Amino acid sequence: MSIVVAIVGGAVAGSEAAAVCAERGVRAVVFERGARPYGKIEDGLPRWHVKLRDKEYARVDANLDRSEVRFVPSTAVGVDVSFERLRASGFSAVVLANGAWRDRPLPVEGIDAFVGRGLLYQNPLVHWFNHHEEPGYAGPELELAEGALVVGGGLASIDVVKLLSLEAWTKALRARGLDADVVSLEHRGIPAFCEANGVDMASIPIRPPTLVYRRDAEDMPLADFPDGATEEQRAKTRVARRRILDRVLERYHVRFQPLRVPVGMEVVDGRLRGLVLRETRIEGGRVREVPGSDALVETPLVVSSIGSVPEPIEGVPCCGELYDFADPETGALRGLDRVFGLGNVLTGRGNIRDSRDNAKLVAERLLGSDREGGELDRVADEAHARGRKAAEQMLEGALSVATEADEAAIDALIAERWAATGYDGDYARWMQTHRAG
Ligand SMILES: Cc1cc2nc3c(=O)[nH]c(=O)nc-3n(C[C@H](O)[C@H](O)[C@H](O)COP(=O)(O)OP(=O)(O)OC[C@H]3O[C@@H](n4cnc5c(N)ncnc54)[C@H](O)[C@@H]3O)c2cc1C
Repeated sequence: MSIVVAIVGGAVAGSEAAAVCAERGVRAVVFERGARPYGKIEDGLPRWHVKLRDKEYARVDANLDRSEVRFVPSTAVGVDVSFERLRASGFSAVVLANGAWRDRPLPVEGIDAFVGRGLLYQNPLVHWFNHHEEPGYAGPELELAEGALVVGGGLASIDVVKLLSLEAWTKALRARGLDADVVSLEHRGIPAFCEANGVDMASIPIRPPTLVYRRDAEDMPLADFPDGATEEQRAKTRVARRRILDRVLERYHVRFQPLRVPVGMEVVDGRLRGLVLRETRIEGGRVREVPGSDALVETPLVVSSIGSVPEPIEGVPCCGELYDFADPETGALRGLDRVFGLGNVLTGRGNIRDSRDNAKLVAERLLGSDREGGELDRVADEAHARGRKAAEQMLEGALSVATEADEAAIDALIAERWAATGYDGDYARWMQTHRAG
């Protein structure tokens, strides 16, 4: 029987699924929205992770550059090819590995009217940060400001405050004639960089960005409770979390405001100029708002970093802001035969996910890229092993219900998209001509 699996999204999850198919002698066709297939690794992981990103790119390339895998770049399912058409094109099964790219809206009424006027969301901010210094960058130009408030739901928000501080310090140090860039500043840490260059940090009056978090430092999933942890072990983990966070605050000159949620805003002359923050208390593990504790905090910039969810695709059933999975274990979509989800599309929490699985990886990353090559490499390898296992499990289910493929119809769809995009089937050559920047 001929089996061909369609995979939507070619990054970590999609490319792992393609590789698992190939290893089983099953053809896979990968539809990728971008010209390059690196997803959150390229546009979500901040660019100071130079070595890590290169290593991840190489892994994705090795997964996709195989004779059993057809890569179909610059093809967004739901835009260039409708989901309905994809399903009717004779594939044996469909895997959605298109990630989580839609920022959860900040729950302050009317605030979205101020996007670009004092409000930014995390996904476009990190994309801009990673690409805006590349020659030929043609995307939107974002305006940052000192003293920003970053409303964070978890770990990616720490990348966001770091990014804001590193940008401000790079600018200030360059203005003093120093050869500074965000990557070396991140690798050394801001105080160490300044000391090595004879700069007194106190002489540069930069207002640090502040991370606003509805829980406390000890609740941040920067270290994981061991399985069946005793009270003593839990207390130790909490101390470790606080230490990791303190180190990040000190190395990158950022502030932390725990136990606050935004409940309102201030607008002056058509721009967002502040957030009303309400105190919270943690009771029995739950966040409780404290009545009568509202206070206005003025700021020229608010960044919302409270999580990412999958983008809706017409024809894919949703349950609230997430896709509607009949069974999160198998990734099967409710009411759609032979359609499965994998990776961030399934978790729906994007790179903010505070899952135990990623805690070690994220903590290593946040402590600074200079640690690359050691523990960070090891935990990234572990993350991949988990990703591979998840792909294998999902495909086990998908292949058990897969139907005979209509190869002629599938090849016609591939040929149509290759003609539209100019891709000629040579993955390595395409990637040579579509380098970053
Ligand atoms: C080195 C490393 C570091 C990590 N750091 C963190 C971390 O700090 N915090 C954390 O929580 N997790 C982290 N992770 C985990 C990470 O978020 C996920 O494991 C992984 O990157 C998500 O991959 P994905 O393929 O599901 O999604 P994505 O990387 O988002 O890939 C989705 C792909 O689908 C494409 N796409 C989107 N829509 C469409 C469409 N309609 N049609 C076609 N294509 C589409 C996109 O262009 C993209 O290429 C890390 C993982 C690694 C390997």
